[in-house]
Amino acid sequence: MAKKKPPSSTSLIAHPYQPPAGFGSVQPAVHKASTVLFASTAALRARTWKEKTGYTYGLHGTPTTFILEERIATLEGGLQTLLTPSGLAAITLVNAALLESGDEVLIPDNAYGPAKELAKNELARWGIAHRFYDPMDPGSLRAALSPSTRLVWLEAPGSVTMEFPDLPALLRIARERQDLVVALDNTWGAGLAFDAFALGSDAEPLGADVVIQALTKYPSGGADLLMGAVTTRDMALHQRIKATHMRMGWGVGVNDVEAVLRALPSLMLRYAAQDRAGRELAAWWSRRPEVTAVLHPALAGSPGHEHWAAICSQAAGLFSIVFDPRFDSARVDAFIDALRLFKIGYSWAGPVSLAVPYDLRLIRKSPAWAGLLVRFSIGLEQVEDLIADCEQALAALR
Ligand SMILES: *Cc1c(COP(=O)(O)O)cnc(C)c1O
Repeated sequence: MAKKKPPSSTSLIAHPYQPPAGFGSVQPAVHKASTVLFASTAALRARTWKEKTGYTYGLHGTPTTFILEERIATLEGGLQTLLTPSGLAAITLVNAALLESGDEVLIPDNAYGPAKELAKNELARWGIAHRFYDPMDPGSLRAALSPSTRLVWLEAPGSVTMEFPDLPALLRIARERQDLVVALDNTWGAGLAFDAFALGSDAEPLGADVVIQALTKYPSGGADLLMGAVTTRDMALHQRIKATHMRMGWGVGVNDVEAVLRALPSLMLRYAAQDRAGRELAAWWSRRPEVTAVLHPALAGSPGHEHWAAICSQAAGLFSIVFDPRFDSARVDAFIDALRLFKIGYSWAGPVSLAVPYDLRLIRKSPAWAGLLVRFSIGLEQVEDLIADCEQALAALR
């Protein structure tokens, strides 16, 4: 029998492809590309990779990444968004785009740890100075401002000590200066808890210039991908950051973009559910004699609760407890190890509840608490089960 002649590879590859006409679906199509095809050399020459007005190369976007950028801009109340390979890369991008040798950046003392490490290492090596200010004392921000300050970071709350700063007060101080940019890490708020671009009133508009978010957390909700977003409302500022973004080569994987697009429709439901469960568990902890503090901005008595209440009604499902100093780190570790539903791991806003011990001395220059801190991220389990899990694990403290 004669063997079948294989088809020519050219006929397989050059087979004409037409996107389907007359087909509708709920989710947008997933367009993946490194190479983007041009209809002619003239079309290729007419488009420059230094602009994102059209498609030139996968690194600079496909229709799928452009859709996510538009949706995050809408979520944040901004106008333009750039996607980055992680939330930390979003922070790096803002610093790299807006600072140069001789400049100074101000960072809250309780900020996301790796952002502080970036300042102490790479930014310092590039000749960019930094100062950490106490976000709970607006006077500390005023005192830290210098003629070379070009960028001020805000974060609300600090994601370990959960201290909620007086954002309008901090913005008012930063706004006295025309020559600096204010950037806010909005990962906790997720674009839902407060409007980072519009924190003041009609009489006194106050807002950040740049808002970053780790899409890794709530927008993804899956604990299975990394992505960041940098959102602006001012075209000139966006262009400045975009130019650096395009030269740095920080692309995002379109499968991950698809996963975030799939998770976004349930963002508000997940945020509300994790908020409800988080507050219930935090309230349970606040009645326990083993802890001296429950740090959750929606709990009365938690640091900055009144600042949270002034601009938020919602909160992320995230809080910390401080154990009585009579429990040493071996006891606290034993408690964490005894948890069954809570897993041990970093990050938050995923489906599985997490517990992590933190050394307060590494997070705060002068911590207000003496005991050992454990941070809980609340997942999507039944809250009664989570309470029962904490209760059974407390036996390990004794
Ligand atoms: C997780 C997190 C980041 C960094 O996000 P990654 O995607 O993990 O790099 C930045 N800021 C805050 C407040 C975070 O919680």
